[in-house]
Amino acid sequence: MNNDITTIAFDADDTLWVNEPYFQEAEKEFCILLENYLPQHSVSQELFKTEMQNLPLYGYGVKGFMLCMVETIGRVSENTASLELINKTIEIGKELLQKPIELLEGVTETLDQLKGKYRLVIATKGDLLDQERKLKKSGLQDYFHHIEIMSDKKESDYKKLLKHLDCQPKNFLMLGNSIKSDILPVLEIGGFAAHIPYHITWSHEQHNHHLEHDRFLELKSINGILNYL
Ligand SMILES: [Mg+2]
Repeated sequence: MNNDITTIAFDADDTLWVNEPYFQEAEKEFCILLENYLPQHSVSQELFKTEMQNLPLYGYGVKGFMLCMVETIGRVSENTASLELINKTIEIGKELLQKPIELLEGVTETLDQLKGKYRLVIATKGDLLDQERKLKKSGLQDYFHHIEIMSDKKESDYKKLLKHLDCQPKNFLMLGNSIKSDILPVLEIGGFAAHIPYHITWSHEQHNHHLEHDRFLELKSINGILNYL
């Protein structure tokens, strides 16, 4: 990798800590709640449809997810579901907002190695308050120079981040578990990107094409980056 890198940005969910398994657990509970109306896998498809329709309005995060579950109840039950079902659904969402933070393997040792040598940044999507809560609970706050909670991770969002950091793309490296959000837009604007796969990926973030690029690295785990810097 190029040794002009000065700034390293990390995705947070499923890169630094566990996230998607909690969402999938919550979704499973929700599908069980609606089993009397539709088979679980169909409820799951309906929920995904609602999420995709609302993404431009709600953005990413738990609160939008909760509203999508409620909307899906209305559609799936043809507006016959009880308020009790809606209350249970809101509980599922609230639980999701109070999950413990479980750091992924190698995260602390990697940050320990990089701290002081590079400017470290978090670049994450999600609800502001929720991401702040997770960061606080993670105990990782002090490693980072800057935390960017982004409404999306498109090229224009990364350009804005780099401008804010006063950083050239050739000096920027992004690490994350989503090829679509953490890798492709960063390569597109001229930065470096390293992919750390996580065993579960949200359907919306899935990307199945093989990627080759001279500014791209595929890693097995987060500490793999230490061999390239
Ligand atoms: Mg992620």
